[in-house]
Amino acid sequence: MGTRYIISVECPECSVVTDDVYYAPTCDFVRYKCSCGHVVDLEEYMGITYEEASNAAEIGELLGKERQKPDYWPANPYPESIFPMLREQYPKIVPDPELRSGLSGMLGREFWDIASDAIWAAMLEAEDEWAETWPTEPGRYWFYGWCSKPLRRDYDPEMTLVKVSNAVNSIAYVGNGRFIYKDAVGLWKKAVLPEPPELEESCQA
Ligand SMILES: [Zn+2]
Repeated sequence: MGTRYIISVECPECSVVTDDVYYAPTCDFVRYKCSCGHVVDLEEYMGITYEEASNAAEIGELLGKERQKPDYWPANPYPESIFPMLREQYPKIVPDPELRSGLSGMLGREFWDIASDAIWAAMLEAEDEWAETWPTEPGRYWFYGWCSKPLRRDYDPEMTLVKVSNAVNSIAYVGNGRFIYKDAVGLWKKAVLPEPPELEESCQA
């Protein structure tokens, strides 16, 4: 198993661009046949080899097209090493197709809830941690550290609420009405803001 990509391919023969081309080097999906008949070698086209595709994180960054699952994503709690039964054995054990789909649905519902809860818990825990990585998702974040240039850091680190938003070709970080540049030093954490209260009519005047 390795990284799979959905990519855009421009045919070198007829220049037609096709989106949504499936490229999975480690699963041998490495060729794409254009409507003009030309076969594009995707490995060559993307410049990503089998070995490199097994290196999911790095390649994901390189492509920037498909998002990787974050590190905190929970592992499957039912690994093959502990539950070696194959899916093919299922019809033999439960031969009645009606009973089988009923059973599958019931178990599927249970496992869906387990997976959903596990992912949700892992997300909340990950969000609660301070990270060195600069946030890239738009939103509000706490920044704890020094926002100013290195020469002016003769003060205690400060907590600043920073608005992260998409700007042209980049991401803008604004805190205390000023841009925060990459020479800032500190840690980041997603800010959970309170629900805004209902405003009385008198406040709106
Ligand atoms: Zn073509």
